[in-house]
Formats: sequence, structure tokens, C-alpha cells
Amino acid sequence: MRDSLRHKLIETAVAMNACGLNQGTSGNLSVRLDDGFLITPSGMDYAGLDVDDIVEVNFEGKSKGQRKPSSEWRFHADIYRQHADAKAILHAHPVNCTTLACLGKGIPAFHYMVAIAGGKDIRCADYATFGTPRLSAHVLKALEGRKACLMAHHGMTCFEKDLPGVLALAIEVEHLATVYSRILAIGDADVLSDDEMAVVLEKFKSYGVQDY
Ligand code: 13P
Ligand code: ZN
Repeated sequence: MRDSLRHKLIETAVAMNACGLNQGTSGNLSVRLDDGFLITPSGMDYAGLDVDDIVEVNFEGKSKGQRKPSSEWRFHADIYRQHADAKAILHAHPVNCTTLACLGKGIPAFHYMVAIAGGKDIRCADYATFGTPRLSAHVLKALEGRKACLMAHHGMTCFEKDLPGVLALAIEVEHLATVYSRILAIGDADVLSDDEMAVVLEKFKSYGVQDY
């Protein structure tokens, strides 16, 4: 069971680079277990990963395995602790999310799909050195009421209910960042009102739920 989850984790990590969302050994990916989570090892090429390279970490940060866990294990642990609905977490350095994040910008409601991250905007977490408790605190704050955030001078992080879902959400957030970057290059963004976004957020509760 854990082996098949390890395979799925590796497949999703490889897919995250293959689809252009991330590159090299940047980024990391994890999936929740009852008593902790499985996470990609630190600084290793995903394409060459074996199931034994995946590291098991408990919520206190104690790891089990032959590799060092991702340097960002702390914010993965803190997100799982804070968000009961987080079952998989993806952190990446996608080109357009990172571009906005390096300008210290989040993504406002320029498009209704911004609601896919759970609220009326996608925030940008303040900068702190990678792998630090301070970065984790900033990410947790930016994720209040949200499933995705940008990270200043760094990249983006999101969570979902499973591995395919978290990859799909990350791709959607990067698409939004791409369009928003283009808008900023041309002019000012026209932003939907909080009332309009409240309507969209309500509709999203049943969107994609196929009950017949
Ligand atoms: P790891 O290789 O340790 O997961 O670090 C990559 C990264 O993106 C750090 O923020
Ligand atoms: Zn990173």
C-alpha cells in the first residue's frame, strides 16, 4: 500500500517537471499518511527516484528512510496539521507564479477561476529563507482560507485532496499567473468585486460534482 503511494508520489513529481511547472531539483511533493506523510528527498532528480528514496516524516518532523527529506518538510508538516482537508502538497518554482512572487504580487480576482484556490484572491507569502520555520509561518498565513499561495522571491505552494488533484490545481494557478502577468505587461487588471467572487465561490461548491 505504502509502496504504491510512493510510486504515485514519484510519478506525480516527474509529471510536475515534464509538464513545465517546475525544473531540476526545485520544488517538492508530499502525500498524507495517517501518522505523517511521504515526501520527496532533498536535492534529488525526480526522474531517477526509487521507492526507497522517498522519505516518511511524522508530524513532529522525525524522518524515516535512507535519504534526507525535502528541506521544506516543515511547511508540509505545518500545512497538514493546520488543514485537515490537505491530503497532498505540491511546492514548485513555476515561471509565471515566481515572476509575480518576485514582484511581491499575489493574484487578485482578475478572472473568476481565481476562486479555485478557495477565496477571492491568491496571496503572496512574505519572504523568508527556504526550509525555515519563519517561511512556514508566512506560508501558513498566506494559506488562511486558501488552498494555494505564491511565495515572495521563491515560487508557489498548494494542497488538495489527492496527488492528481494537487497537480491539476498547481497547473491552474500557474495558468492564472501566466494570464495575469500578460495583463500587467499590457495595462491594469480589472478585478471582479467581492460580491461577484462570493457568487462564484458558492457555485464552486457543486461545480464538477457529478451526482448522476
Ligand atoms: P528540496 O530539494 O530540499 O525539496 O528543496 C527544493 C526547494 O524548492 C526548496 O524550497
Ligand atoms: Zn522552493
